[in-house]
Amino acid sequence: MFETLSDRLTSVFSSLRSKGRLSEADINATAREIRVALLEADVALPVVKDFIAQVKERATGAEVSQALNPAQQVVKIVNEELIAILGGETRRIRFAKTAPTVIMLAGLQGAGKTTLAGKLARWLRSEGHAPMLVAADLQRPNAVQQLEVVGERAGVPVFAPEPGSGVGDPVDVARRSIDQARRAQHDVVIIDTAGRLGIDAEMMRQAADIRDAVSPDETLFVVDAMVGQDAVNTAQAFMDGVGFDGVVLTKLDGDARGGAALSVRHVTGRPIMFASTGEKLEDFSVFHPDRMAGRILD
Ligand code: GDP
Repeated sequence: MFETLSDRLTSVFSSLRSKGRLSEADINATAREIRVALLEADVALPVVKDFIAQVKERATGAEVSQALNPAQQVVKIVNEELIAILGGETRRIRFAKTAPTVIMLAGLQGAGKTTLAGKLARWLRSEGHAPMLVAADLQRPNAVQQLEVVGERAGVPVFAPEPGSGVGDPVDVARRSIDQARRAQHDVVIIDTAGRLGIDAEMMRQAADIRDAVSPDETLFVVDAMVGQDAVNTAQAFMDGVGFDGVVLTKLDGDARGGAALSVRHVTGRPIMFASTGEKLEDFSVFHPDRMAGRILD
């Protein structure tokens, strides 16, 4: 059975509690438990190593606090380092000085991009913006239709190639959507791009072409938290192929462990900005590193 980090630390700490300060042996025992718990939570090994080195360094040099016992001190350090590795503060969308702000979504097929486009649009509306969705995924059958359904639910218009105009060129659609947004006074444009089931050079090229055509203010990499370690490889491939400014973790309703969050942030250096927690449009929130740290620790 999966044991949480807190469970593990509590059992180590029961032997520490009576002592005045942390010995090296105590710190090593604690580090071992953290290592196992993080690996079980699907955190990538290099990330685990860096994390433990950081916690060890701080725990060794820690001033002996009058207010906290050694166990509490370690928990505090682990919690603070988890928050730091998850990005510290919540990173907000950077809106363009001149509208429209262009947000491009990239990620593998099935990651949850189209669903996320609707959630983001709905949320932006609730924040007082007038977003428009753009169907630049012209690869997957029904992708345009799926975005139209999502747009209708979110109460947000969808810019798509005219019916009957053939497959259409996603780069052209993305470019034209910006003019349309200006005309119709939409201040945010959310571009849904095509994904493939696996990393694919053609998919990367297309996303890069769209990026070059519209110069997004924010490129968001959408990744399924359920894929665990694989998230790191996919994130790295998208970083190299397209580049991105922030990460959206989806399907967090199914991943109680959060290993993907820790790894993706650490490996790419890009902040996690939003979390998707279900299939409904309202299952969405701004990502809070401290809450995620709590979830990993508890
Ligand atoms: P895309 O191919 O990246 O556009 O992915 P979709 O938006 O079509 O999503 C793929 C599937 O995942 C759909 O069945 C969605 O309903 C589902 N999905 C998307 N986000 C979430 C989420 O946060 N939680 C859960 N449980 N399912 C999700």
